[in-house]
Amino acid sequence: MEAGDNMNITCVGSGTIGRSWALLFALRDHQVILYDISHEVLNNAINTIKIYLNTLYEERLIDIQSIDKVIRNIENTTDLKYATENAKYIQESVPENLSIKKNIFKKLDEFTSPETILASSTSGLFMSDIQSGLRHSERCIVVHPINPPHLIPLVEIVPGKKTSSETINKTYKFMLELGKIPILVKKEVPGFIFNRLAAALWREALSLLNNDVATVEDIDKEVTAGLGFRWAIMGPFLTYHFGGGEGGLEHLIDHFERAFSTWLKSMETWTTTPYSAAKKAIMQTKEIKIIKDKSRDDILKWRDKKLIQLLKLFYPQLITLKEKSQ
Ligand code: NAD
Repeated sequence: MEAGDNMNITCVGSGTIGRSWALLFALRDHQVILYDISHEVLNNAINTIKIYLNTLYEERLIDIQSIDKVIRNIENTTDLKYATENAKYIQESVPENLSIKKNIFKKLDEFTSPETILASSTSGLFMSDIQSGLRHSERCIVVHPINPPHLIPLVEIVPGKKTSSETINKTYKFMLELGKIPILVKKEVPGFIFNRLAAALWREALSLLNNDVATVEDIDKEVTAGLGFRWAIMGPFLTYHFGGGEGGLEHLIDHFERAFSTWLKSMETWTTTPYSAAKKAIMQTKEIKIIKDKSRDDILKWRDKKLIQLLKLFYPQLITLKEKSQ
């Protein structure tokens, strides 16, 4: 795997995440094989990729000829051996289940040459568990994307105990070349960093809903118009550093110590989602205006257009698709 080369890349699993990875690789001129267990799923994946490409075209990130070129860069198959035997990099995105992933990695270990990097999209499983017992476990690594990977810059790179430093360095460099913002997670913890932060907020969102403090729509608005709006520029540490005025973070921690302590003591410590909270969340989400008014495809298109606007605003250096695909 050399810098800047066009490579044979295989995406194993063509669901929500696999199809978006396939698009990202193909946009960067790599030859992609998309694998899944049925032709029906693969056809759905290709249709979604066409919708995504159309949005990129409407947002003037690619030209009309590039749509065909990108589609031609993506072959699809239900034959795992054929899909993987010539790949230089494989991105696995099968369901979040350790035994399914172990089983797939065992086959990938057999079918591919030892230099092929085997990356997993897992949201929080340990690579140390997935890679154990493989012949060439040193080339296995977690590359956790954020949905949809073709538009969200962050990826978490999480090595397992047996992952080599060569694999870490190559993968990190490859992600930079793809236009991603990689974070190297220093220790394996369940859910890594992104999903642990998300889970803490999700539990509190469900608790506020369960206690009738606000509706689903208003809690979502607290995040999109408040917390999330600010977080797109500054993360929690920098935000609080400025929240502390002249005295910075030191002052904020000191000043809000008692308030935070009161808030934290009043919060739920659930480790599973209560039925009442889940039911309320599901019922109210179905009633959100955009869900009632628009089709799923229209909402995804709307989401992608907004994400592209944010990319243009915050990470214009990552939007190099037009030059690349011409
Ligand atoms: P998904 O259910 O949409 O897709 C999984 C795909 O794998 C399906 O197309 C399915 O047919 C296929 N599959 C099932 N069994 C298989 C097998 N034995 N071999 C090959 N393919 C098989 O799931 P997803 O949301 O795309 O998640 C895939 C992975 O990405 C999971 O590990 C998940 O945790 C991770 N991930 C998901 C998100 C997200 O927001 N959905 C975000 C980041 C990471």
